[in-house]
Amino acid sequence: SANIIDGKAIAQEILWEISKEVEEMKKAVGKVPGLAVVLVGSRTDSETYVRSKKRACEEVGFQSFSITLPEESPEAEVVRHVKRYDDDPLVHGVLVQLPLPQHMSSERVVGTVSMEKDVDGFHPMNMGGLVMQGRTPLFVACTPRGCIELLLRSGVEMAGKHAVVIGRSNIVGMPVALLLQRQNATVTVVHCHTPDPARITRTADIVIAAAGVPCMVRGSWLKPGAVVIDVGINAIESADSKEGYRLVGDVCYPEACQVASKITPVPGGVGPMTIAMLLSNTLESAKRAYGLSDA
Ligand code: NAD
Repeated sequence: SANIIDGKAIAQEILWEISKEVEEMKKAVGKVPGLAVVLVGSRTDSETYVRSKKRACEEVGFQSFSITLPEESPEAEVVRHVKRYDDDPLVHGVLVQLPLPQHMSSERVVGTVSMEKDVDGFHPMNMGGLVMQGRTPLFVACTPRGCIELLLRSGVEMAGKHAVVIGRSNIVGMPVALLLQRQNATVTVVHCHTPDPARITRTADIVIAAAGVPCMVRGSWLKPGAVVIDVGINAIESADSKEGYRLVGDVCYPEACQVASKITPVPGGVGPMTIAMLLSNTLESAKRAYGLSDA
């Protein structure tokens, strides 16, 4: 049965590496990286994400800033707070927790973050930098970067391999497909208009599942020995958990374990890596701001 790619342990290792760099920064310039989070409304999932981001900041010695605005805040008010953080020299990364309430344009609000502090990697210049060969974007989106980092740190060779990405969203599928190409994989993107996703997925050496459909990828969809990265986070009803639901990925885990050579669990796979990459992007941003960057 498959080896488990322990995202939690790998993320912890990265956090430890980051905390060492924070100590060095403190010694060199007397400053630490700062991350600011803007949350609008009170979705429980968003609150949970913001809390874990704050906790991770504390763990590595970052300064964390955050504001929670009421659901009915006018767009201009939200923009004002984003801009205030973006202008603050102690803040090196600004993050707007999505989704925003219906009555405002997330494009406009997120667009207020300058490309130099866009640690989420959603700025059109950073996205564009990923598309064009020979360019290096200032920041790459955290979840896609986390997927590649898991593969690299698990010793999975990508060059010349066939990778199938299920999903083509701006925040996961599309950037992860571009990153895999940068690692010299041959990439196929499967999406909701693809007639027979199982047939294509069966030809993959590496599968990245990011469709948001619980247990979509069955054991029979996998080539024996495939490496599986499960990005999906889906809450499904469950009578025997105290919350009444539990989290599953896009991959049918017990079946896939019988066929894959390596696989990420949900939870404990890609999720913790997303936060680790957010901190890594923020550290890089602070190093650039203080002239400590080697890149
Ligand atoms: P999305 O809804 O924006 O995009 C889903 C993509 O999957 C679309 O491109 C769609 O074409 C494709 N798709 C949907 N159903 C399909 C089907 N039946 N067959 C083939 N393709 C199909 O979702 P997203 O924001 O990209 O997120 C995807 C999943 O990843 C969700 O479960 C989300 O919760 C999870 N996610 C996890 C993290 C993390 O940190 N681990 C971060 C972001 C998103």
